[in-house]
Amino acid sequence: MAEYLASIYGTEKDKVNCSFYFKIGACRHGDRCSRKHVKPTFSQTLLIANMYKNPAHDPNNHMNEAQLQNDFDLFYEDVFTELAKYGEIEEMVVCDNVGDHLVGNVYCQFRLEESAGNAVTSLNNRFYAGKCI
Ligand SMILES: [Zn+2]
Repeated sequence: MAEYLASIYGTEKDKVNCSFYFKIGACRHGDRCSRKHVKPTFSQTLLIANMYKNPAHDPNNHMNEAQLQNDFDLFYEDVFTELAKYGEIEEMVVCDNVGDHLVGNVYCQFRLEESAGNAVTSLNNRFYAGKCI
């Protein structure tokens, strides 16, 4: 039984732990979710919620495709450079799903847990583009 539970932990079949939250650290139900949101204490992956504001989602956007790409590239480079100060980065992903809980989320996976920990500690006291992260 324990083995079975372990095998479904964090998946759709798991009725206790929220699979969305487990996999991506965000869930559209938020605090009202009927399942448990388990926050990993230690992780190599850092999540910064709603960090990227894609101008394309702004109704007043006048940028063309190339300008949008450029805007994204600048953002990506900026964040990557900043996060790389804390340690070696394996992968960095910027979510661009048009769902409020996901859009603009930045996921950064470090090679070492320690690096992610350091980044979280430092970034908790900082602001990016006027927003507390
Ligand atoms: Zn949930």
